[in-house]
Amino acid sequence: MVNVLTSNKNRVQNIAVIGAGIGGLTAAALLAKRGFQVTVFEQADIPGGCASTFRRRGFTFDVGATQVGGFEPGGIHWQIFEELGVPLPESAPCDPACAVYLPGESIPINVWRDPERWRIERQEHFPASEPFWQFLSDLFARSWRFQGRQPVLPPRHPWDLWQTLRAMRWDTLGTLPFIGSTVADALTGFGLAGDRRLRTFLDLQLKLYSQVDAGETALLYGATALAIPQAPLGINHLHGSMQRLSDRLVEALKNIMASSIVGSRCMPLS
Ligand SMILES: Cc1cc2nc3c(=O)[nH]c(=O)nc-3n(C[C@H](O)[C@H](O)[C@H](O)COP(=O)(O)OP(=O)(O)OC[C@H]3O[C@@H](n4cnc5c(N)ncnc54)[C@H](O)[C@@H]3O)c2cc1C
Repeated sequence: MVNVLTSNKNRVQNIAVIGAGIGGLTAAALLAKRGFQVTVFEQADIPGGCASTFRRRGFTFDVGATQVGGFEPGGIHWQIFEELGVPLPESAPCDPACAVYLPGESIPINVWRDPERWRIERQEHFPASEPFWQFLSDLFARSWRFQGRQPVLPPRHPWDLWQTLRAMRWDTLGTLPFIGSTVADALTGFGLAGDRRLRTFLDLQLKLYSQVDAGETALLYGATALAIPQAPLGINHLHGSMQRLSDRLVEALKNIMASSIVGSRCMPLS
């Protein structure tokens, strides 16, 4: 896609996007906005992929994704919808983002949206762990600024490498020693490897965000995943289910170019 957008020679005008998940729909809508003729092919009956929903006996179920980040001003979905010129789907902030009941406990650990409230909550539950959280917070801040400058990771072409190098600053260098580390390594570094409650809490949170526990979650990714629920970022729940996000992207795409969306089983979605 990058070559298509940047190459002046042999500029492609007609683009086929395979799959109407959030990724395909976002790419298709942005390409259409930039003047390309786009056709999206989807094998399922509805768009959305892992972020779609289905109905059974009057209830609506999310297929996969239930919460969405990047709705805050400057956030990734905010930027995309700004560029498309359509409003974000209506949503409510998740606060707490999560209420975690550790095995055998009846009082939840609430991951509050307000950073100060979350700091007090975690200090009550994990009194010795604050230096660990501050370390994660510092890594997150450096890494988030880097990600905001849009590196292409992992770099597969010289252009990707150039974008990634351009996104680096002096403060990014502070994250480099931790590229090969896991969240569990950081726990060990702060003398917290034996804290079973903290480890279980982190494992539960990280399995949600990275599908693996602290022993397998890359530290830089873990620092980001654990920080996103707090303001000024935060995660949201869409009014009317996750389907609203892909529906809004389809709507934008149609508005931009009266695009034909067809199923690869010849099943029109419109
Ligand atoms: C259980 C679960 C929970 C999740 N929870 C969250 C969450 O709370 N928050 C969050 O942000 N993310 C969550 N995610 C992740 C998020 O849902 C996905 O990262 C995102 O939806 C992926 O979008 P995608 O477009 O890359 O891929 P997909 O959603 O997989 O879309 C790919 C699309 O391509 C179609 N397709 C594939 N091959 C073909 C073909 N040959 N021809 C035509 N069509 C084809 C598929 O049918 C599908 O519609 C969750 C994921 C899962 C599975």
